[in-house]
Amino acid sequence: MFWDESIESLERTELEQLQLHCLQETTRRVAARVPFYRDKFAELGIAPGSIRSLADVRRLPFTTTADLRATYPAGMLAVPMDEALRLHTSSGTTGKPKAIFFSREDVNNAAELCARSFVMTGVTKKDVFQNMMTYGLFTGALVTHYGAEKVGCLVIPAGPGNSERQLMLMQDFRTTFVHLTPSYALYLADFLEKRGVQPRRHLALRKAFVGAEPYTEETRVKIEEGLGVDVYNSYGLSEMNGPGVAFECERKNGMHLWEDHFLLEIINPQTGEPVPDGESGELVLTTLCREAMPLLRYRTRDITSVIPEPCECGRTHRRLNRITGRSDDMLIVRGVNIYPQQIERVLMGARGIGRNYQIRLEGLDEMTVSVELAEAGFDGQVEHLVTLQGQIAEKLRAEILVKPRVELVPPATLPVNEGKARRVIDNRKL
Ligand SMILES: [Zn+2]
Repeated sequence: MFWDESIESLERTELEQLQLHCLQETTRRVAARVPFYRDKFAELGIAPGSIRSLADVRRLPFTTTADLRATYPAGMLAVPMDEALRLHTSSGTTGKPKAIFFSREDVNNAAELCARSFVMTGVTKKDVFQNMMTYGLFTGALVTHYGAEKVGCLVIPAGPGNSERQLMLMQDFRTTFVHLTPSYALYLADFLEKRGVQPRRHLALRKAFVGAEPYTEETRVKIEEGLGVDVYNSYGLSEMNGPGVAFECERKNGMHLWEDHFLLEIINPQTGEPVPDGESGELVLTTLCREAMPLLRYRTRDITSVIPEPCECGRTHRRLNRITGRSDDMLIVRGVNIYPQQIERVLMGARGIGRNYQIRLEGLDEMTVSVELAEAGFDGQVEHLVTLQGQIAEKLRAEILVKPRVELVPPATLPVNEGKARRVIDNRKL
């Protein structure tokens, strides 16, 4: 099913022509209206009219998180303030957030891309959407909210947490799809199990859109089983509208990045140079249609790769593989680069253990992975536990090249995450 077939399956050559036209427009607009870019162009000797091909994007400067912080609150605005319609922020762990402005057209485009994304998975106006993302300054909930309204769905702005109420809403209004973080999806699956709810029998739930945190294929399977749904991987970031930047189609095999709105590059995060198609690197995005706050070559810090082959669904917009980590999240333990998602992949693929885990770093590079046993994971035999512990430690060593201490804990004893998960506790004294 298509929301806008003509654009979703536009011939590549035409799509690239459209991208070039929009890139040229964007470059001219930011040079004329955003002092930050005007100064950068002057510094690098770039004439705004000199972009002649898509490859010329590499001559343009990168934009980083630090640039957005330095120009906070409104230094990146490309329209007069009274043309701005909505403000979102992207949270940071310290200091000021990044402020993202939307014009009327931007708000509409963001909803349009979400509508496209939902319909691509088979959503229709008959569906009932319970949105379990956080409403507020975070883009996660509002942008999908408007997208689902555009399709004509009944939208329930539930927000995250309060699982008791979520269940009541799902039952009373026959919710068919939800949007939530992977950590809350796992928590909710546990909650339903404890309440004796069998989603496929007792609920109308059919699909879950899962995003805002990277997660693994093994986690997808756990969520699909636990909630009785098809899980579609969703990618977005506040700096690029929020959700709906890239989304999986019915094939569930990579996320179509909406290339009429975003120009994508994959670079080596250390050198800034492009990597060959299909190789892993940092995703860099340039907005092509944004009015209020166009961004050139934004360093997302997300590690992924492009799937160059066309998709069977007929869409011509290229697909991204799932995000395997953030270059910021990378841990260096005993000199080895480790992404928490690698650990998750091993844990979610192991038998006898539950859905919640935590990684602790202490002292001088001592790593402990605590993971909950599954409800039915312990038969009372201590030697079985010891064997399981050893197996998991060995699998982790094979994956991350460092052998952590593995701690198996009873079900429901690790801190519960109803919002964004805090999986890594780094107390190292380095
Ligand atoms: Zn597809």
